[in-house]
Amino acid sequence: MHVLVITDLEGPVGVDSFRQTRTGRTDRKRAAMDHLAREVNAAIEGVRAVAPDAAVDVWDGHGSGGLREADLVGGRYLDGGRPYFHLHDCDAVLFVGQHAMAGTPNAPLCHTYSSLSVDYYKLNGVFVGEFACRALIAGRQGVPTVFLAGDDKATLEARQFVPEIETVVTKYGRGRESARHRDRDEVRAEIRDGVATAMDRVEEIPPYTGLEPPYTLEIRYLDPSNISKIDRVGGWVRKYLPFLGPVLPIATGVTRVDSRTIRVRADTLLDPESGLYHRL
Ligand SMILES: [Zn+2]
Repeated sequence: MHVLVITDLEGPVGVDSFRQTRTGRTDRKRAAMDHLAREVNAAIEGVRAVAPDAAVDVWDGHGSGGLREADLVGGRYLDGGRPYFHLHDCDAVLFVGQHAMAGTPNAPLCHTYSSLSVDYYKLNGVFVGEFACRALIAGRQGVPTVFLAGDDKATLEARQFVPEIETVVTKYGRGRESARHRDRDEVRAEIRDGVATAMDRVEEIPPYTGLEPPYTLEIRYLDPSNISKIDRVGGWVRKYLPFLGPVLPIATGVTRVDSRTIRVRADTLLDPESGLYHRL
């Protein structure tokens, strides 16, 4: 048995302010990182309760760092790359510390990839956040996403896409920076048990493949300046100098919809050459 645990810093119990997550300073993030580490270790215990010899990879998905390698008990720490694109021999994906997508009402610390620049992501016309994108990338490799721990809105979002998923609520959102937190020991015990149940059910939970290729990802930014140089050059080249496309180091398939919105097209999610790949 081999599993990948995707982690983020906004979803654990005790975390409801961007002051606790947006900083690069570990002293400010320490309490949040401690909460995340305890929840991740509970998840690892849950995996081992069912599969004692399982290989458990744990990816730190928080941009500025949300986990310390030394805090993990029985998991292999991955801080680089995006391992959910490379699930060759993986049997299941789990999420711990997950938040809801940008724009979700009363969802603590909700965002989609960047809490400072992204208004929304829409994939093939459907609003998606980090959960759906990564569950779909796993699903397109035949790997099911079987568990999510996070705030109540993040668990609802996960069940919209994967109705069979096991979930544990860490806190109840009351605003973008407000939540009623559950007892942390109860949460940890539920994560351990919920992950064990999910591991028992791996065969029953289908890989998420609900959005079919080809893909069009619409990204709306909060501000026109959030559209990166690569997006602008891509759109401009496509429109006026299409013959230059092959020789420029830019992602293909990017068009500009308006001052804050781009559309990125790709035939698959898994092609590293596509403009889509780098945004997921
Ligand atoms: Zn995130």
